[in-house]
Amino acid sequence: MKKDLDVIGELTELDKKHFLHPTSPIQQQQEQGPTFIFTEGKGVYLYDLAGNKVIDGMSSLWNVNIGHGRTELGQAAAEQMSKLAFTSSFATFSNEPAIRLAAKLAEVAPGDLSATFFTSGGSEANDTAYKLARHYWMLKGEPRRKKIISRTKSYHGVSMGATSATGLKPFRDFTNSLAPDFYYTNNLSSQSLRDVIEAEGPETIAAFIAEPIQGAGGVHIAPETYFIEVRKICDEYGILFITDEVITGFGRTGTYFGVEHYGVTPDMMCFAKGVTSGYAPLGGVMLSKDIHQQFIELSTGTLLHGYTYSGHPMGCAVALKNLEILENEQLMNNAKIMGEEMLKGFRSIQRMCQIVGEVRGLGLMGAVEIVKNKSSRERFSTPLAPVIVSEAAKRGLICRSVVFDGQDTIVFAPPLIISNKEIKSLIEILYDSIHAIEQKQLH
Ligand code: PMP
Repeated sequence: MKKDLDVIGELTELDKKHFLHPTSPIQQQQEQGPTFIFTEGKGVYLYDLAGNKVIDGMSSLWNVNIGHGRTELGQAAAEQMSKLAFTSSFATFSNEPAIRLAAKLAEVAPGDLSATFFTSGGSEANDTAYKLARHYWMLKGEPRRKKIISRTKSYHGVSMGATSATGLKPFRDFTNSLAPDFYYTNNLSSQSLRDVIEAEGPETIAAFIAEPIQGAGGVHIAPETYFIEVRKICDEYGILFITDEVITGFGRTGTYFGVEHYGVTPDMMCFAKGVTSGYAPLGGVMLSKDIHQQFIELSTGTLLHGYTYSGHPMGCAVALKNLEILENEQLMNNAKIMGEEMLKGFRSIQRMCQIVGEVRGLGLMGAVEIVKNKSSRERFSTPLAPVIVSEAAKRGLICRSVVFDGQDTIVFAPPLIISNKEIKSLIEILYDSIHAIEQKQLH
């Protein structure tokens, strides 16, 4: 034990001194050090150096879909690395895992999405989508079509293009110079999309991008007919429709891809995270058969876009094994059933707690809103979700608060392998945490 304490102390100091954390409160890190130093994961649980065992109610970053500690993926990675760790996909070079994964994705993706450009993650996938969409219009002889429209409360990543497309303003305000030609529509109104297109001029717009269910922005589910209307509007004005399935892909919402809930298919689709369940960094963009064909017919030179790790053999081998597990263990179906249980649990908490307003979810993406007044939905002047999330972490549950745009929301995305019993523990800890803070608030 003493040895562990020594190690924790040593790592804490090194962390403060040398590790600049992504999307982290920098002062808190300096004052308190890391909240957890994780050492191991098994199923829905994470273990840390201090001996804590916590439910990973976020699948870490919405990505560990098949759960922690799956040695099959470790084996797939080790086998591929031992045989061929890396080789280039530039200049028409190829490798078997990348080819097989591209073919597998064509088989499972919506509509006729059939060709994949690989990246290392979701931000690169988004930047790639914007660049390929613009290049497509250049090839088609419409170079004025370069504007990209996205939605309020959207999150598309932090590379320069993805930051510029992100509708959550604090991410854009973090830097004071953005990429040009990005515009935003109201996230729940298709009319708002039409208005922006009309105002900007349809002949200047390359693409509209949307997450089927918004994740980091607070788990927002669009009205039932929203995407049908969006698809129609994009067709009417000849605008490419891109879905960002970085969170919603690979079973998260109870179907292979989130857009399947809405009966429409995109022209391009970004993915990352769940494609490897986070066991290896990988992402990509898929193109419809028609767009791919246009690239083939109209391009004259080299496709001058490529990341060193596009088509990484180990990443692709891990993805193939991950998709095999996802399908063999019917985890999409489990996400659907357990998602219903999770939502039921949220509803019971809503009935028992005065400070819980709207609850929502689809598959294993869920949200609980904190309110001061249930009927008026008035919020507390200082959001309580962060305090509840800290309380939950102490009690053994990791979840996330969303306070952007005046929200006070707690979001969830547990691994798709979660059992009924584990959902019950998640709900119990959540209830205890909200109740504890509610008591403090009321007394
Ligand atoms: N798109 C969406 C919808 C996301 O949720 C994220 C990450 N949370 C990204 C893109 C960016 O992915 P990455 O962090 O892998 O660059």
